[in-house]
Amino acid sequence: MKKQVLLYKKLSPLLMARLHEQTEVTLIDNLNADGLAKLRDALPRAHGLLGASLKLDAGLLDLAPDLEAIASVSVGVDNYDIDYLTERRILLSNTPDVLTETTADTGFALILATARRVVELANMVRAGQWTRNVGPTQFGTDVHGKTLGIIGMGRIGEALAQRGHFGFGMPVIYHSHTPKPAVEQRFNAQYRSLPELLQQADFVCLTLPLTAETEGLIGAKQFALMRRESIFINISRGKVVDEAALIQALSEGQIRAAGLDVFEREPLNHDSPLLQLNNVVATPHIGSATHETREAMATCAVDNLLAALAGERPKNLVNTKAWKA
Ligand code: NAP
Repeated sequence: MKKQVLLYKKLSPLLMARLHEQTEVTLIDNLNADGLAKLRDALPRAHGLLGASLKLDAGLLDLAPDLEAIASVSVGVDNYDIDYLTERRILLSNTPDVLTETTADTGFALILATARRVVELANMVRAGQWTRNVGPTQFGTDVHGKTLGIIGMGRIGEALAQRGHFGFGMPVIYHSHTPKPAVEQRFNAQYRSLPELLQQADFVCLTLPLTAETEGLIGAKQFALMRRESIFINISRGKVVDEAALIQALSEGQIRAAGLDVFEREPLNHDSPLLQLNNVVATPHIGSATHETREAMATCAVDNLLAALAGERPKNLVNTKAWKA
């Protein structure tokens, strides 16, 4: 008998066909109240789950006694209780690598947009307010040659360093759990403690995962260390930052600007004070959101899920302790 898969993300026809060939699929095409009710109804029969952007806590997963595998269409796994999954021997997989370059592109888009005030000034043109040549009050600040500070030197951090070093001639400094000699050699990057990085970087970029350790890592104390001319970029997860402290730092001119792809609560409320600030560029969690990359992520997730349901170890297994060889 075919295994039951609960899908809470739409897939391309090609990937749907692959899943249908080997499994029985229930699609939840919207995670609104109706969709969540449908999900709860289907969980008791599910062997596999595939999707993203849903907090799958024990309360929900207790409804699925036969669950064998979850394939997350994301690299971040902060929506899952890994200890709980491991205890139940549910295999959790993610989609690293295939989104690295695209997410680094997003980071660089935010660096350029904030430094050169692209959104603010493009809006001025659109509003018909370009009546004479721009002057110093509309000038931006250079990106090339400035110091790029990266917090979390993993896959995405490294791709950001590559762009900064080779593309823009930026000195790279970084902070991570452990020093990365190979990265230091490739990009002439230098390790810094977190306070040193905050004090020295022109661009402070977050590329860390959200974990118990990183939640609230950047707050009032950390913004106070940054330079008034520095720009803050977050392409990791909103909860790594104390958003109220960020709003205060921006409002009081403690830092120059912020480029934000992720927020404490998503979607960002339309009355968030962040949206009142001209020096904020806010994007709707688009780090990996290109046609090519989203298809590559979905393919990776389908591969992981089908492998797990066939009793094979998925390539991108997160909770390796759940695997019994
Ligand atoms: P990764 O390769 O695992 O890199 C994460 C890096 O963070 C690692 O190098 C790790 O250091 C470092 N780190 C972890 N905890 C730390 C701490 N407490 N202090 C200092 N450094 C710490 O992950 P990735 O593929 O680059 O992805 C990173 C994160 O980006 C994901 O978890 C996800 O949340 C986010 N992301 C966002 C988007 C988006 O749409 N905006 C898209 C993709 C990913 P060590 O190597 O020394 O352990």
